[in-house]
Amino acid sequence: MQKVGIFRSIHVKFILIYVMLIIIAMQIIGLYFAKELEKTLKTNFTTSIEDRMNLLEFSVREEITKERNEQDDPTLEQSLRTVLFGFSAEDIIEILVIDSNKKIRATSDSTNQQIVGQRPMDDIVKKSITSESTFESTYVDRNSGKRIWVSTKPIMSDDILIGTLYVKSNIEKIFNQIDEINHILAGGTVVSLTITIIIGIFIAQTMTRPISDMRRQAQAMAKGNFSRKVRVYGNDELGQLAIAFNHLTNQLQESQSSTESERRKLASVLENMTDGVIATDRKGRVSLINDSALLMLRTSRDLALNRPIINILGFENEYTFEDLIQIKDSIALDFSTREQPYILRVNFSVTQRETGFVNGLIVVMHDNTEQEKIDMERREFVSNVSHELRTPLTTMRSYLEALAEGAWKNEDIAPTFLRVTQTETERMIRLVNDLLKLSRMDSRDYDLSLEVIEFNRFFNGIIDRFEFSKSQDVQFKRELHSNDLLVEIDTDKMTQVIDNIISNALKYSPDGGTIRFKVRAFDDHINVMISDDGMGIPKANLKRIFERFYRADRARSRAMGGTGLGLAIAREMILAHGGEIWAESEEGKGTTIYFTLPYDLEMDGEWE
Ligand code: ATP
Ligand code: MG
Repeated sequence: MQKVGIFRSIHVKFILIYVMLIIIAMQIIGLYFAKELEKTLKTNFTTSIEDRMNLLEFSVREEITKERNEQDDPTLEQSLRTVLFGFSAEDIIEILVIDSNKKIRATSDSTNQQIVGQRPMDDIVKKSITSESTFESTYVDRNSGKRIWVSTKPIMSDDILIGTLYVKSNIEKIFNQIDEINHILAGGTVVSLTITIIIGIFIAQTMTRPISDMRRQAQAMAKGNFSRKVRVYGNDELGQLAIAFNHLTNQLQESQSSTESERRKLASVLENMTDGVIATDRKGRVSLINDSALLMLRTSRDLALNRPIINILGFENEYTFEDLIQIKDSIALDFSTREQPYILRVNFSVTQRETGFVNGLIVVMHDNTEQEKIDMERREFVSNVSHELRTPLTTMRSYLEALAEGAWKNEDIAPTFLRVTQTETERMIRLVNDLLKLSRMDSRDYDLSLEVIEFNRFFNGIIDRFEFSKSQDVQFKRELHSNDLLVEIDTDKMTQVIDNIISNALKYSPDGGTIRFKVRAFDDHINVMISDDGMGIPKANLKRIFERFYRADRARSRAMGGTGLGLAIAREMILAHGGEIWAESEEGKGTTIYFTLPYDLEMDGEWE
């Protein structure tokens, strides 16, 4: 937060306002006081002079109107001078007595007696005596620069003007006094200003301290620190504001911590979800992505955050962000490689405000590979079964049609045709039986009727059966185990397994070939091997021969009557026994099928 400039701070503003108010108040008081004082002092001064002039006028009139004896009595000028000297005072500069002929008859200034008998030259004197009434005026003396107050008073005897009194007095003293008082006032103003400024600083501080406290607290709160409290200095408006502020802090802290715990809850839910979740902002950039989503999209958080969701999901060419907002159904995202299927199901939901403004998008991804795989297998299975059934059925239909159209009468063809339909029917029955077997194994709707047998003897029995009935020129070589091997198996099912493996070996063996049988015993299992030196299986197809309906060479295999279910059934049965089955093969050199069965050494002892 920015700092408040010194002249903008409330503190300084307060003090400035204080000072201004005091200065204005002092000025108004001072002005009024000075004016009133000046008026009073002046009036006092002039009335004191006027009182004395009244007295003087009386004495001067007495002297002028007095009958005088030329020898004994002093002259009028002498007597007037005596009277004037008697009236001379500190504040009176000069008193003139002027007769009705406008001649000066006496002056109180002893150094200036030569003007007696002359007419006054001074303008102001002239003006005052011609007015023939009381006259007063203030002027500044040119020589001394001091203010002078002059007044005249006519001397009347029986309503006849016999002369004029002219008094020149020094009024400067009054102005000096006023100046002094003004100085005192100014001094007082300065002192009171200083005192009020100091008091003002303290008062302003008491006002601004809580405010700056709150400012600091607000700053701390913005940084997430809620531990501070504003001090409450009193119960005034500021104190109440501080209480309200502290209350607000508490509320904020509480709501923040509850938001925080909600956020943590949500984060842990998101992180522990197996579904991938991505949230975007309103521009479609990734703002949140959980670990599952990162794993599914095989990316890192650093790479994903802030990138457009369209790029992350690889939709650049198909959709825009606006399209995603409109999508109601889920979309399948196929990341499958040739080796591994990988399909994600993606759902979109838009986060909106009440106004309809789109805030962003939530994308939920679910790994749908298993489901898709099952669906695909099911579809493939149905198509395989229908295909396998259609072939014999169409064959049969055409033969039956031929028979119906008259071939039944032909003794040469009819039996052949009937044999063909019989073979095809048997083939279908076998297929359906195989399918039933598989379906029972799938639904675990079977019981292994286990019995303990000696494996070498059991295996030999089956090989013998094949050796006696074989139509090809194939040699059988046995490398069975020298010891008795006691295993617990379902002999019926195991016979089916071994039958199929041997019949396959016979089917794909050339004339003059050899089929080898080998049994080896290990600590916890026996390993059975049946190998031929036939055509072999291409490497790429080796794993697939255990899949249902898989035949490496369709045309040839069908010609040999196979449906491609034999090894699939064998695999299920071996797995049901707790063993494993696999194949090794080299094209043109031969094929080896291995399977294992669990075997317990201890059981031999029990048996004996
Ligand atoms: P079915 O056993 O149902 O009569 P099938 O023999 O064709 O039919 P499987 O036994 O499951 O089916 O064998 C699957 C495929 O594996 C065969 O079609 C064949 O292509 C291949 N195969 C199996 N055993 C051998 C073998 N010994 N040599 C070469 N290819 C084999
Ligand atoms: Mg077979």
